[in-house]
Amino acid sequence: MVVDVLYLIAAVCFIFALKGLSSPQSASHGNYCGIAGIVLACVATYISVGISGAFHTLNTLIAIAIGGGIGACIATRVSMTDLPQMVAGFHSLVGLAAVFVAFSTCFAPELFEIVGLGGVFQSSLVEMGLGSAIGAVTFSGSIIAFLKLDGLYKGNNVPVFINAFLLSSIICLLTYFVTTECTSAFIILTLLAFIFGATLIAPIGGADMPVIVSMLNSYSGWATSGIGFTLHNDLLIITGAIVGSSGAILSYIMCKGMNRSLLDVISGGGQSNSSNKSDNQSEVSRAYKNGSAEDAAFILKNASSVIIVPGYGMATSQAQHALKEMGDIMQKEGVKVRYAIHPVAGRMPGHMNVLLAEASVPYEDVCELDEINRDFASCDVAYVVGANDVTNPAAKHDCSSSIYGMPILEVGKAKTVLFLKRSMGAGYAGVDNELFYAQNTMMLLGDAKKTTEDIIKAL
Ligand code: NDP
Repeated sequence: MVVDVLYLIAAVCFIFALKGLSSPQSASHGNYCGIAGIVLACVATYISVGISGAFHTLNTLIAIAIGGGIGACIATRVSMTDLPQMVAGFHSLVGLAAVFVAFSTCFAPELFEIVGLGGVFQSSLVEMGLGSAIGAVTFSGSIIAFLKLDGLYKGNNVPVFINAFLLSSIICLLTYFVTTECTSAFIILTLLAFIFGATLIAPIGGADMPVIVSMLNSYSGWATSGIGFTLHNDLLIITGAIVGSSGAILSYIMCKGMNRSLLDVISGGGQSNSSNKSDNQSEVSRAYKNGSAEDAAFILKNASSVIIVPGYGMATSQAQHALKEMGDIMQKEGVKVRYAIHPVAGRMPGHMNVLLAEASVPYEDVCELDEINRDFASCDVAYVVGANDVTNPAAKHDCSSSIYGMPILEVGKAKTVLFLKRSMGAGYAGVDNELFYAQNTMMLLGDAKKTTEDIIKAL
């Protein structure tokens, strides 16, 4: 009874944690709720298992101290730009944990009270098999995602028939295991699932990894939930379902923001497409206005409202602190400065928000696409820092473009657009941006941080 109540409170803490994490203002409260939930869950599990004796207690405490210590160490040292790989790395452990639990239940089912007169319950066999397969896919897939995000592995093309063969073999073995309780089938299906996780993720482009990480997160949640049914553990069922559905919703939001289907991302489609790249090359010869930091400073000095649009280039150049300094200088001069965030700017959801928060940009100055888009028409300067696709008008009118249909920040409507980037090249989607050649655009070619620092000097 006490355990059930504690589990219920822990589950509510997790729900509040997710709610808190949905906004930068409440994110730290969300984190504390999550920590409280985990502590309660550990205490409740400890009580329910009824571990007794100083030796077991010491063992458990040592294990918690080692795991918690490693987690705290990694979390405090990781840089903001390395967060996606950290998340991928941690997900791999969730997957592995699901495999271990499934193996324990498979080889010692009587300990988990899942044995009836006719052998192990069929529903438990399904949960075990699925939990192990999904956990194994999550583990190896997350490891590949980690290596790709960290630039340690570039990826390989895997013929579709190999993945189709692996998937159908896993399904056949799962069916065989459920009907015969054959442990060899269980072991082989898990091994194949490990391979399938790697071959599924290996061909996917590095920039699509955030969607994949979130999808693997979702898988790990469903695996946990499945194991929760086997272990009759309500907390695992609830937490797994929360993780599974939130991961799936996040993947959906990212795909919607990019106007792509999840299937398209998983199959590696919609990546920089060659026809767009050649379009881009032909565009390079077109005339454009190239400005200096002094020109930009002059324009900014005379502006009364400026909207800063950060993108992936801000993250790579780490320009957020310089931007904040520039924004502060202009605000002191009475200029209205705001930041416009596109839902898929950068390479992970909230990427720009995290970096701006790191530079202590006030939350009230940071606006989402919907709330700020109509203000571009009345603003003097759109200061676009390493953002490209999220401003590209091709998304609105070129139905042959790979980004067609993606909502964009309408920076072209500002009186002047200052584009900070290193070259006239395309963004992640490989689509040339016609705004670079527009009358009201000035290109500021160079590293975004360096250019912004030069503008600060000139200001
Ligand atoms: P883009 O990749 O479209 O553009 C980034 C631009 O930054 C490039 O054109 C590059 O130009 C410039 N850049 C790179 N380094 C620097 C630097 N050091 N200094 C100045 N400029 C630099 O990024 P966006 O943020 O506009 O769009 C995000 C893209 O990522 C979208 O296509 C989205 O669909 C995709 N995506 C986003 C996800 C998310 O969750 N946020 C998930 C998966 C994909 P140059 O090389 O000339 O400098």
